[in-house]
Amino acid sequence: MCGRSYPLPDAVHIIDEKEWKQVINHDSKVNGMPLCPNCHRIFDEVLKPYIWEAFKKYGVKNMPIGWSKSNKINDVSDMDLEIGDAN
Ligand SMILES: [Zn+2]
Repeated sequence: MCGRSYPLPDAVHIIDEKEWKQVINHDSKVNGMPLCPNCHRIFDEVLKPYIWEAFKKYGVKNMPIGWSKSNKINDVSDMDLEIGDAN
């Protein structure tokens, strides 16, 4: 995402590996993407819950539960990111 290239990027699961396997039965390249360690952390801890909320409001069904909340950071809020809810 940031354009930085580390010696080796992290192999990031888009949907949590266990959750994916419960539905698809096997791991798959389509559920992965290479990200640098910083972007990996931002994706898991910040982006997933925001995307989940937007998709939920849009009416997307069967969203990955693992995206519903941050899996690590607890102190990131809309105020921290200066994102308001206009609706
Ligand atoms: Zn990055």
